[in-house]
Amino acid sequence: MMRSIPRLLLLFLPFLAFAQTEEIYFRLPIHDKSEADQLTRLISIDNVEGNVLFGYASDIQWERLLQSGYRPERLPHPGSLYEHQMSRSIEEFTEDWDTYPTYQGYLDMMAQYAGNFPDICRLDTFGVSVQGRLLLAMKISDNPGQEEDEPEFLYTSTMHGDETVGYVLMLRLIDYLLNQYGQPTPEGERVTRLVNKMEIRINPLFNPDGTYKGGNHTVTGAIRGNAHFVDLNRDFPDRISDPNNTTVGREPETAAMMLFVAAQNFNLSANFHGGARVVNYPWDNGAPSGTYSACPDDAWFVDLSLTYSLTNPDLLTGGFPNGITNGCQWYEVFGGRQDWIYWWHGGRETTIELWSTKNPPGSVLPQRWANNKESFLAYMEEALKGIRGIVTDAITGEPLAATIDIAGIPNVPVFTDPNAGDYHRLLRPGTYTVMVSAPDYFSDTLLNVVVVDTGAARLNVALWPVSSTVSFVQNLQSGWNLVGLPANPANRHYLSLFPQAMANTLFGFNGAYQLQDSLNLNAGYWLRFADNSSATITGAAIINATIDLAEGWNLIAGISTPAALEQISDPQGVIIPGTLYGFSGSYVPSDTIKPGAGYWLKATSAGQISLGSPAPAHSFPRLPDISQFPALRVHDSHSTASQGLHLYFGVALPDPAQREYFALPPTPPAGAFDARFADGYRIAGGEQAVILLQSAHYPVVIRVASLPTESANAGEQWLLEEIVAGESVARHLLAVNQTIIIRDSRVTKVRLSRENRGLPANITLEQNYPNPFNPGTTIRFGLPQPARVSLAVYNLLGERIRTLIGGQVSAGLHKIAWDGRDEAGRNVSSGVYFYRLETDGFSEAVKMLLLR
Ligand SMILES: [Zn+2]
Repeated sequence: MMRSIPRLLLLFLPFLAFAQTEEIYFRLPIHDKSEADQLTRLISIDNVEGNVLFGYASDIQWERLLQSGYRPERLPHPGSLYEHQMSRSIEEFTEDWDTYPTYQGYLDMMAQYAGNFPDICRLDTFGVSVQGRLLLAMKISDNPGQEEDEPEFLYTSTMHGDETVGYVLMLRLIDYLLNQYGQPTPEGERVTRLVNKMEIRINPLFNPDGTYKGGNHTVTGAIRGNAHFVDLNRDFPDRISDPNNTTVGREPETAAMMLFVAAQNFNLSANFHGGARVVNYPWDNGAPSGTYSACPDDAWFVDLSLTYSLTNPDLLTGGFPNGITNGCQWYEVFGGRQDWIYWWHGGRETTIELWSTKNPPGSVLPQRWANNKESFLAYMEEALKGIRGIVTDAITGEPLAATIDIAGIPNVPVFTDPNAGDYHRLLRPGTYTVMVSAPDYFSDTLLNVVVVDTGAARLNVALWPVSSTVSFVQNLQSGWNLVGLPANPANRHYLSLFPQAMANTLFGFNGAYQLQDSLNLNAGYWLRFADNSSATITGAAIINATIDLAEGWNLIAGISTPAALEQISDPQGVIIPGTLYGFSGSYVPSDTIKPGAGYWLKATSAGQISLGSPAPAHSFPRLPDISQFPALRVHDSHSTASQGLHLYFGVALPDPAQREYFALPPTPPAGAFDARFADGYRIAGGEQAVILLQSAHYPVVIRVASLPTESANAGEQWLLEEIVAGESVARHLLAVNQTIIIRDSRVTKVRLSRENRGLPANITLEQNYPNPFNPGTTIRFGLPQPARVSLAVYNLLGERIRTLIGGQVSAGLHKIAWDGRDEAGRNVSSGVYFYRLETDGFSEAVKMLLLR
């Protein structure tokens, strides 16, 4: 070959002064592949086979090639080799998929899919070509209108307009995914999983001007470049030759794709071409043509490429080992899309050459679909592997635009999608160190992250802002509150922080309550307010804390983020499970230490715990399952039912040592409601227990949440008595879901007792309760064996007023209510009445007094 001009000068030849009107395809013998490194900057190389280069040139480039001394051989253009049969309708096209759609047919099809499958797809136009044709992408996902925490996937085809196989196959893939979704077959379930777990976008035709160069009615005459004869796969920013990641000066199609990719943060994509049969993976440059140019994720890219090629008969017979090639080893390219998306956007993309003939007769297309279908799905499934998670602001919980780097794989981070904060770092199975960073935040490094082949490991990360001044609005209830510092303010005096607080009501705890006037970090306090109010506390964020616990009860506060119990580091194991309590009208068991609130926590002995540092989580002993335990829920008129504490009674714990899990903190200051068993616990075994009520606003409401199962002993019942000065003033036999309302403000104590009388030895008839009564009362009686029973009410004249029972009754204790009405439903008048129980050989009457 002639070398009449030094190579460097090739780059600086002036443009010739005539308009470009055509695209020329040619072959050019070269000495070796390194010669392609010069030519790739002059013309668009299509392929290098041995020492023959195939390429495209606009007429300007063709003149420059000739002026440079080359003697290329012009070949028939690949886009015009066949006179194509075009489909006349969508129906005809989709019947056998062996023709090509017209441009209008393509637009109609895409619109029709979007209309027919609105629940799983949405049609987007992400740009317009030089000649005004649309750049379309179908989004296929569950909830297609939302950006979810799911990997973003892109298939795009035919950026070289005359490489049309992928165009039709992508349309067919859209059709396949939409129609298989939800089908109750293994194939349908596979597609459904992909659609549900990913956000899939498919752009069948990236270069419509090139494809329809011959007119909107035909793909015969298609060209490689766009309407400006620019090869779009040489038009992207290049990390070596054009390192400005800007759309300025680029073709409209390129610019549109750049913005589309930047907006979506695609995690995995592929770019379909024709003219060869191979998966081409990065880098496309960085070494002489013909030389392997490994990218940082080289091993992963090889795996990915093999995932596509190894089940694909077309690719395995395409002349490349295993159907894959490193891009640069094939021939060097600058400005290609796959390197751009990898280098600048953290996306992983390959360039897949589907078929040797670029613009073949439609009759070959059905077999191409059959040979690529498995590859399409398997390649998509790779997006569900590696490491995924959400990166948030540690204080606000808002998703962040963050960067995820892997130690040992430099310079090719992935980025979160700021919409949902999700990232998806595709990786081979192994153990990794993951570094998460964001501008203006402290970075975080996570060690020993294990990746397996079957699915993505989840790793959510919260980052702390560097300028960590934070503000919290705290809502305060009238009466007592448990408070703490959510941040480190300049002035810690309680009236500076809480101007609405009542004077001299700040109490800390150090074995006993102590009056204070300022708050320390990580300490909890009682503070009283006359009315509901709020306070805003501003200060430096408390990122982590080490808290010294004393043996017994501690009143503590946390850090500027919520700390779940399982995130608390407790290396000495001093925390007693179940003993974290907040206060909201009454004590409330908690599993999270929230910013700005005070909490009680009990320790077996003095020790240190820490919050907010990436220490290994402490695993607590399991709490016994108490969800089925008999329980009362107690609250007063200033607290709500949901705030009431469950008090458990009448059962034995499996392990007596677990009783400590039910210890209650020291009683609140006078004025704060509290209900507890007399020994300070919230569980009581045995046959009797006393509940103390402190500072209640009456009425106090006791709801029976559950009771001991009575099946074992039909005679067992629980009685709750209201006690005043040691005397029972009211008694309630407990029933599940019963609500007991205590209105008598002298009642500060209630007694629970089990009446375990078994089956009565004799027939018994008890005094009604209450008595005197108005308007109703309850009558109790016992039967040692089943019997026919009559129980009725009589007046002083001996007239039967009301029959309460008349029929067979089981053995055991029974009670029945009388509402003070006669048989006709009329209220009877005040006075003395009798109730008489009659059964085999037994008849007894008892007097009662109705006072209206
Ligand atoms: Zn191509």
